[in-house]
Amino acid sequence: MAKYIFITGGVVSGLGKGITGSSLGVLLKNSGLKVFMQKFDPYLNIDPGTMNPIEHGEVFVTEDGGETDLDLGHYERFIDENLFKVSSWSAGKIYSEALRKERHGKYFGKTVQVIPHITDLIKEKIYQAENISKADIIISEIGGTVGDIESQPFLEAIRQVRMEKGYNNVMFIHVALLPFLRVSGEYKTKPIQHSVKEMLSLGIQPDVIVARTEGQIDERLKNKISLFCNITTQNVIVCPDSDSIYKIPLILKQTNLHNIVANQLQLELKNLNMSGWEKFNLNIMESSTEMEIHIVGKYVELSDAYLSVMESLKIAGYDIKKKVKFVWVNSRYLNKDNVKEQLQDAKGILVPGGFGEEGVEGKILAAQFARENNIPYLGICLGMQVACVEFARNVAGIEDAISSEINKESKNKIIDILEGKDGENIGGTLRLGKYTTNLVPNTLASQLYGSKTAVERHRHRYEFNNSYRELLEEKGLVFSGIYKEENLVEIIEIPTHKFFIACQYHPEFTSRPNKPNPLFKGFVQAISDNYK
Ligand code: GLN
Repeated sequence: MAKYIFITGGVVSGLGKGITGSSLGVLLKNSGLKVFMQKFDPYLNIDPGTMNPIEHGEVFVTEDGGETDLDLGHYERFIDENLFKVSSWSAGKIYSEALRKERHGKYFGKTVQVIPHITDLIKEKIYQAENISKADIIISEIGGTVGDIESQPFLEAIRQVRMEKGYNNVMFIHVALLPFLRVSGEYKTKPIQHSVKEMLSLGIQPDVIVARTEGQIDERLKNKISLFCNITTQNVIVCPDSDSIYKIPLILKQTNLHNIVANQLQLELKNLNMSGWEKFNLNIMESSTEMEIHIVGKYVELSDAYLSVMESLKIAGYDIKKKVKFVWVNSRYLNKDNVKEQLQDAKGILVPGGFGEEGVEGKILAAQFARENNIPYLGICLGMQVACVEFARNVAGIEDAISSEINKESKNKIIDILEGKDGENIGGTLRLGKYTTNLVPNTLASQLYGSKTAVERHRHRYEFNNSYRELLEEKGLVFSGIYKEENLVEIIEIPTHKFFIACQYHPEFTSRPNKPNPLFKGFVQAISDNYK
């Protein structure tokens, strides 16, 4: 039977519950356990798929095509396990399932209520993860902060899980802010006391408190938290701010959190082996030389919108001991008159994914600038589509080349929704999740992956229009990755260029510490060579 750890948040949001949970996951995995993670979000959207990236950050895509919260990206990168749709639940998804059941008469005329019907469904999702993952430990983060009205059903559900499974099978870790008051020069425990009181009123006694602080605190404060929050001093964990999230597993290792968990949950841990994380952190510390990468996107107001892209670039940088710095360029404002001024210093240009018409012409200009000036280019999803359009326009002379997402009327839809054999649209919905790309031998793509195939995740609606393949090939574009089953273009490259590659999928979702995705690795290496 799996054991459960629930991570809740106190006082304020943004304390890094996800990083705390996944860092604990790292410690337990490296002690020989199989770890799985889940996130429960109290918002009413069904999933983040249609949420504005500038407001909510990136949509992380799981192998099985789940459109999930960006925290899942952290989870996967930390615990180095592929998660599934069952890892991500919003209140909206739970409620809509309950309402659908009600319409289908599945509640047999009973009055449908938050308790027990919503809480039962939440518990079902929690227990379902055990069957699907076959994990020893399931770490679940409850989004939001204790005290929020909308998180109450989730807290009630996890209270019931503890009752059903018992103290030795379920553990509550509360991550809460221990603020430092600069005027009086002291830490204040009161907010934590209040948030624990709030939890107690819901019937939940935290087993561990992770106090998020600016710096280290003395024993006296730990004793105070212990005394007023009903937990032993050793279960008060101090987690100070860190300049890198990747240090947190090593910081938590020092606090002995994994052994505290093992004691309560009666788990046998093997010798903890953190050599991989230690090596990765050493690389981070030794990454002193900086290199810049220009990211031309349209959601640049919130860098979280490109979180996995950023982490993938950083991870690839650390691999060669380079610290990557980002230069953000808003494609909405990029035009013929300012493109040179904006991009002339670029050592590498990355055009990430995106939806809708706005900012696309700016991205097309960025791809052109990279191609014409021999600047390393990595195009992701829309970044591949604009590279194809640009090539068609400026190399193959198809002046009105465009994607049908932007202009349905154009005669030259280089990127299009594909027609099914019977003339029906088959691309009405997104292509989501993992697909296998066949890599063409002797191409940059096959050299980078060092393999005949690449399995990567997708999230897009439009595809390269194969009727233009021959013409663009004649002009020097190489189609180096194909999804054979449906003959879809997955990767393009320009062999005469220093480094110009773009893919229809999202390689950013498969980078892990010490294991950068091959496209990011090649791109960052090419930029680094540019610095010499
Ligand atoms: N908007 C494009 C499509 O749907 C690209 C999507 C993306 O970049 N994720 O095909």
